[in-house]
Amino acid sequence: MTILRVGVLALQGDVQEHLLAVRGCGAEASTVRTPDELERVDALILPGGESTTMSRLLQVFDLEMPLRDRLAGGMPTLSTCAGLILLSREVLDGRPDQIALGILDVSVRRNGYGRQVESFEADIAIAPLGVAPFRAVFIRAPLIEEAGPDAEVIASFGDNPVAVAQGPHIGLCFHPEMTDDLRVHQLFLERAAAALEVSAA
Ligand code: GLN
Repeated sequence: MTILRVGVLALQGDVQEHLLAVRGCGAEASTVRTPDELERVDALILPGGESTTMSRLLQVFDLEMPLRDRLAGGMPTLSTCAGLILLSREVLDGRPDQIALGILDVSVRRNGYGRQVESFEADIAIAPLGVAPFRAVFIRAPLIEEAGPDAEVIASFGDNPVAVAQGPHIGLCFHPEMTDDLRVHQLFLERAAAALEVSAA
């Protein structure tokens, strides 16, 4: 069986941590900065960082249209923080020209957890992972203000969703790559491999 090739969008943000996490799960991982590199991967991680910067760099690196094409073709994604913002249907408090790719049926508010709690950690329950809590690291995180019917909420913190699943996509407000708990990456690899009918590792 073919093995899943996972790309990490490497324009900006916490790329290395995701490469290590995917490799830690036993799968192949490579960076994606060019349309050619995007073409060679089966699934893509859109990391945290700064969504307005990433949005601009997608255009500078001529990746916006190739990325839209791959997403339209069903390429699975794992997105965290700024990555989640890029894939959202609606971005509140964003720059007027920032890209919202409309893959995840969520409306997000940038930096929605407020200035006083720019960063915090919390133990949360992620439904497909069972009862063992996941230590979630939030860094100037987007707030999911509304998840539409197409997005399945798989974790919440307080009154708001912090993780959604939608078809082959998982979107998170927090940073799983900043802990050594690989269960979210493993879940993504399993779902991506199942969607593409290839082997995860
Ligand atoms: N606040 C950032 C943004 O708006 C996201 C922060 C993060 O990715 N940790 O893009």
